[in-house]
Amino acid sequence: MRAVLFDEFSTRPTVREVPAPVPSPRGVIVRVETTGLCRSDVHGWSGHDDGITLPHVPGHELVGTITARGAEVRRFSVGDRVTTPFVCACGRCPECASGNGQVCRNQTQPGFTHWGSFAESVALHDADTNLVVVPASLDSGAAALLGCRFATSYRGLVHQARLQSGESLVVVGCGGVGLSAGMIGGALGAEGVAVDIDDDALTRAARFGAVRTGNSPGCPGGGCSRPSPRPCRPGSPSPSTPWGVRRPPRPASSP
Ligand SMILES: [Zn+2]
Ligand SMILES: [Zn+2]
Repeated sequence: MRAVLFDEFSTRPTVREVPAPVPSPRGVIVRVETTGLCRSDVHGWSGHDDGITLPHVPGHELVGTITARGAEVRRFSVGDRVTTPFVCACGRCPECASGNGQVCRNQTQPGFTHWGSFAESVALHDADTNLVVVPASLDSGAAALLGCRFATSYRGLVHQARLQSGESLVVVGCGGVGLSAGMIGGALGAEGVAVDIDDDALTRAARFGAVRTGNSPGCPGGGCSRPSPRPCRPGSPSPSTPWGVRRPPRPASSP
């Protein structure tokens, strides 16, 4: 199969023929339909991850179709269209038993612990614990991004912060995780406020339904002590995907 590899960190990757992967006993092989490019891929390519051995194939945000499965896989079959979280948990260790598979001691990550999805096919381990079926109606570009940025935001807002309808959500940094947080917050009925240092990012946040946006001043030294020259301003909520789409109306007595 063809894959994108780099032989040294921070060097130009090349497309080459490599051996096709085989499934682990609890894993599957997925023919990649779409793969995302993430800041984490840049960290891996730059040599910031001790777990990567060279040469390496990056890529962890993907959607595709199962073409082979290990003998112990029960919940998925060849032909299923699936996606995966960034962190694939083992499903058997104490962390997994406590519902914290994101810190599983035996976790695997395509594109980090083994070759990833910048290839025609990718191996995904512990399929029954991690994979999610993706309906044919869901756009592959959207589906490929669910397991990284959306799953990260969902864990933070739903499981940790327990965000409720009617509460306010301030998102600082409107990249992939931030925009996902805004959309999840809106689906929960929270009022989204977007903060970034990039007007383009704020425009995007407003398009996705942030009710207010604010451009904080550039902070090259890490400090934000100066007052912002561009204070918060109303956003332009989209009628199709507003962050506050299901927010109930405020009582008449509210200020
Ligand atoms: Zn990612
Ligand atoms: Zn585990």
